Amino acid sequence: MQVLWAPWRMAYIGAEKTDAGCIFCRALEGDPRDRLLLGASAASIVMLNRYPYASGHLMVAPRRHTASLPDLPADEHADLAETLRRALRTLDRVLHPEGCNLGMNLGTCAGAGVRDHLHWHIVPRWSGDTNFMPVMADVRVMPEHLLATYDRLRPAFDWLTR
Ligand SMILES: [Zn+2]
Repeated sequence: MQVLWAPWRMAYIGAEKTDAGCIFCRALEGDPRDRLLLGASAASIVMLNRYPYASGHLMVAPRRHTASLPDLPADEHADLAETLRRALRTLDRVLHPEGCNLGMNLGTCAGAGVRDHLHWHIVPRWSGDTNFMPVMADVRVMPEHLLATYDRLRPAFDWLTR
């Protein structure tokens, strides 16, 4: 049984806001593994969430820096939707979740962590997991855990380019 356990959320909640730029726009710069970038399509990018709610928590975003889904050009939205569909299939194949939560938070009051650049969340779920988030765990386990997940998923996302 996999347990949904996300103490590293506290690192996120406690993290200082920086002006280092948009994580989605910067995802295509530098080392993909450092950025947790799994790949990109013509108009979309797929990356792991650095502060996941579960193993394999992905984010699928348009390359275009926009906060507005209605303003996304139709062809870019079609690319985004298709990338989301294929990412879900890939996740199924590698991690075999029993379910998934898909969601998009538009606006700060709706819970968007990055409010200026829209993105889908894909959170794999297993029966027996839980929404309980312990707060007294060691956040230092996180980078290793994340990169292990990244290394497991990356080859399966070879249908994306960079
Ligand atoms: Zn952006």
